[in-house]
Amino acid sequence: MIEERGWNLVNGERRDGPRAEVVRNPARLSAAVGTVGLADSSLVDEAVRSASRAQADWGSSSLADRQKAVLQGRAALAGASEEGQWARLLTAEQGKIDVESSMEILLGQMLIEQFVQDADAALGPDVLDDELGRRVVTRDPIGVVGAITPWNYPVVLSLIKVIPALLAGNAVVLKPAPNTPFTVSLAMETIGSALPPGVLNVVHGAADVGEALCTHPQVAKVSFTGSVPTGRRVMAAVAPGMKRITLELGGNDAAIVLDDVALDDAAIARMTDAIFMTTGQVCMAIKRLYVHRSRFDEVVGALCEAANSFVVGDGMEPDVTMGPLNNQAQYDKVRSFIFDAERRGGAVNILGARSAASDWSDGYFMRPRIVTAVDDSAPLVVEEQFGPVVPVLPFDDDEDALRRANDTEYGLCGSVWSTDTDRAFALSARLQAGQVFVNAHGLMALDLTCSAGGVKQSGLGRECGIDGLRAYTESRYVTNRRAM
Ligand code: ADP
Repeated sequence: MIEERGWNLVNGERRDGPRAEVVRNPARLSAAVGTVGLADSSLVDEAVRSASRAQADWGSSSLADRQKAVLQGRAALAGASEEGQWARLLTAEQGKIDVESSMEILLGQMLIEQFVQDADAALGPDVLDDELGRRVVTRDPIGVVGAITPWNYPVVLSLIKVIPALLAGNAVVLKPAPNTPFTVSLAMETIGSALPPGVLNVVHGAADVGEALCTHPQVAKVSFTGSVPTGRRVMAAVAPGMKRITLELGGNDAAIVLDDVALDDAAIARMTDAIFMTTGQVCMAIKRLYVHRSRFDEVVGALCEAANSFVVGDGMEPDVTMGPLNNQAQYDKVRSFIFDAERRGGAVNILGARSAASDWSDGYFMRPRIVTAVDDSAPLVVEEQFGPVVPVLPFDDDEDALRRANDTEYGLCGSVWSTDTDRAFALSARLQAGQVFVNAHGLMALDLTCSAGGVKQSGLGRECGIDGLRAYTESRYVTNRRAM
């Protein structure tokens, strides 16, 4: 059994918090993964002040020096996580299967490299010298960034904020989710070891610690990933300080499967992954499937067959291909959507197998489900389920599918599945979403060189790519040109 200890990181030092909280393994609730020391407002204050002090020198260092330091951090992270202990720790605290944990850690390293590569184009000054004079546009750091992240991808979703903020010359105070504090802390401590003390800090805790960070007068920007209601709270908390903000919130992604779709094994595998990866706890997962009526039975049949091969259990077991949900609240929410769908007369196909080695009563286990015969008003269709259950709904014409897909307050991702590229791109252009995939969907289809984010209630601002780096800067220009 892993007995982990979670520390806050303030000014380059491990700091215990005034309150200790036990973190449980969602696949073995009777077993503690470890304990984490939660911060209070005075430790948050200390972390922010140390960030503020460190930021002055860090922000005036050259971009090349910051890139070098971040790459050293990446190399240290690669070395420290190489043996697979970090992946096992991530599985123990989060619940995702071991290969997904390894993938998350690798994806984190790929993200760092991509950010370092994009930084020259995104952050370098633009100098114009012509007969009218000189104009220099710089992208200056904002100051101290407060980053608040969730429990589904604790490492990647923290790096996606921390790295661009650092490259842009900011100092960071990160607050991870309290139920997945360990692997991300190791990752931050490892990267932090390549940086001046105080440039990267971590404080642990729940809403109170998040609020202390949002309202601290020396925090100039908050970057948040989480649910829509909490995003609204964060936005309200930063408003009086006029702080800069990035919000990456939930989604209720629709996939539209057209009548000419090619349903080969690879396409079904991509669709299945996009629905069920990380037990469906992915912001950019397929949460609703609209399928042309002429292909409906075929799609449902193929998805049921694919989902039937899942083995649900403790993600540490080699045969298990789907881990538990991460926490009680999520487990209860997903179950309530399923019960509601049943009450409405929906056909709930319960698929996959229970791992014999896992104690089903000791974890938040749930077999995958594909639901048909529910209408568009069911909570399973309207709300974000964030679990291993998906509604499949028929449509008769593309316009109807598009209207229903867009009939939501969310707008994170979408996808169109078709053999006709022009037709798929034309429909995709009208899907209200920050990113749309053709014949694929979500995490595994991400283009790391592009900026990603939500429209409507799914968020504000973009992460990754040029926009994602510039989100941590203020642009300004100095000029002696007289154009008028
Ligand atoms: P979930 O409901 O899945 O836990 P949240 O959006 O509430 O998702 O949580 C995302 C992150 O926001 C977590 O790190 C959580 O501790 C933090 N958080 C929760 N409430 C607040 C708040 N009021 N202000 C700032 N951060 C918060």
